[in-house]
Amino acid sequence: MKIVILSRNANLYSTSRLKEAAEKRGHEVQIISPLKCDLVIEKKKPQIFYNGSFITDVDAIIPRIGASVTFYGTAVVRQFEMMKVFTTVESQALVRSRDKLRSLQVLARAGLGLPKTVFTNYSKDTEQIIEKVGGPPCIIKLLEGTQGVGVVLAETKSAATSVLDAFQGLQARVIVQEFIKEANGSDIRAFVVDGVVVGAMKRQGKEGEFRSNLHRGGTAEVVELTEEEENAALKSARVLGLGVAGVDMLRSNNGPKIMEVNSSPGLEGIERATGQDIAKSIIRYIERHAE
Ligand code: ADP
Ligand code: GLU
Repeated sequence: MKIVILSRNANLYSTSRLKEAAEKRGHEVQIISPLKCDLVIEKKKPQIFYNGSFITDVDAIIPRIGASVTFYGTAVVRQFEMMKVFTTVESQALVRSRDKLRSLQVLARAGLGLPKTVFTNYSKDTEQIIEKVGGPPCIIKLLEGTQGVGVVLAETKSAATSVLDAFQGLQARVIVQEFIKEANGSDIRAFVVDGVVVGAMKRQGKEGEFRSNLHRGGTAEVVELTEEEENAALKSARVLGLGVAGVDMLRSNNGPKIMEVNSSPGLEGIERATGQDIAKSIIRYIERHAE
């Protein structure tokens, strides 16, 4: 098969591992920057122009679209869909997963456990909002943040109020969330491919840090999921329409609480922690579904 990886940087761990895994299984691989694609939109003849020629005969694409290029990247994925090319992440699901609030709404509707969350449109009544999530300490999160930037733990009511006021003064959109204290600065990442959890790791923030992001100095180790956690991960991916998903959850006293679901989950942390060939799982998923 001919597989295109949509990625801006061929040297990234995930991109190079996917290429390696696909070639090992006899596929032809091309890495294409979505930002360098021109989309030709014409009656019944969708085409993509890249690097001086039209892209043809592609069987499948693997989008690795960064959050900062979601708009253009999604348009490119959609164009491939118009060309009837199989994609490991559909454009619709990609857009939905990038909208944290919408994702939480979909997950809540499906009955999944979530940290209690309030979204507010610059409300002046901050006290009342903080009470709604169980009072301080609480978490305040920038909706547009990634890698733990813009996630604040407010220990007291006055801290929460001033953080909320500051964010609102900057016209930033935020959510206020119940703080899951018993997670102890750790979270669980379940990596789902095609309805199966192919690897799971527990990430632990460094001493004194409530955020477990690896980018913030957290460490990861392989973890055994409970049946409830496994089911929650699979259901989250399913209701968001993601064939490949990184499902992040917190271990709370009353079961797993889903924090977010990532549509371009990185491979480095999970492959190193679990020793599993996750890239191969993704390529095999393509083999099962692309013509
Ligand atoms: P990002 O998407 O920027 O990584 P997250 O929402 O995943 O932001 O939050 C970063 C980290 O903060 C999480 O990995 C988790 O360790 C911690 N965290 C986030 N929300 C909560 C919460 N409601 N309760 C406890 N810890 C949380
Ligand atoms: N690619 C980064 C990572 O794997 C950010 C996205 C994610 O959290 O999956 O850490």
